[in-house]
Amino acid sequence: MPAAAPEHQTNEMPIDKKHPETTVMAAVDYRILPGTKSEVISLPEPVIPTTTDHLELQQYIDSLCVHTDTHSLTREKAMELIEVPEGLDVHEGVWCYEWMRRLCMDLNELVIALLEDGCEPTKCHLMNAGEYQFLCASHPRPRECSAIDYIHHTLTQSILLLLSPCFFDPSNPPSTHAFSSIARRLYRIFAHAWFEHHHVFWTVESETGVYKLFMAVSEKWRLVPVDLVILPKEAGEWTVEGDGEEVDEFDRGETVSGR
Ligand SMILES: [Zn+2]
Ligand SMILES: [Zn+2]
Repeated sequence: MPAAAPEHQTNEMPIDKKHPETTVMAAVDYRILPGTKSEVISLPEPVIPTTTDHLELQQYIDSLCVHTDTHSLTREKAMELIEVPEGLDVHEGVWCYEWMRRLCMDLNELVIALLEDGCEPTKCHLMNAGEYQFLCASHPRPRECSAIDYIHHTLTQSILLLLSPCFFDPSNPPSTHAFSSIARRLYRIFAHAWFEHHHVFWTVESETGVYKLFMAVSEKWRLVPVDLVILPKEAGEWTVEGDGEEVDEFDRGETVSGR
């Protein structure tokens, strides 16, 4: 007769506010042991980082996302979530960078769901979103790519830019303005999902809240101007004010029709 799985093997981790560094160490040591039932797993609460080290910031944002009930995520909650936590002295550009990095990871879930929904060159042979068609700017000259190629090229280009020294340099934090062109490209992935794979958009959104978080980041740091927001209010009400400036080489793609 097989041995019964232990009832509860998660490590309890009380937060020591006077000595937060102790809690950080406990978070690193946290393990879910083999045989633990999912219903008794309680993940440690997010612990505000004690330094602005990239790894600590990433772990904090990741744990915030894990603890967020994405089914009931609202615009207001999303805006709250992306605020710099009280007591953390971090450069605005670094904080925006860490959220952009997280959003690129979450967008991969949307890409997988699109692939499962048949978003292939034979079905979506152009990067369309309703009445709009977008050219892919990840080439020496902007060109027509199938939707899934556009998405892969744009995500890859975005991640390469985020890993480049001009963004990922702790001694020289980026301006939040620098993320505008990346965000505008990434926004079009949501647009394609919304207009061409509507149920996929909602399935992924209910699991991850990635669109609301993306738009919260966009609104806070004015990344995607309101005149480029083409998803209807049903997807969430956003009034992003932008300055409309074209920023860098990555922003060369144009809409073929529409805007
Ligand atoms: Zn598609
Ligand atoms: Zn391309």
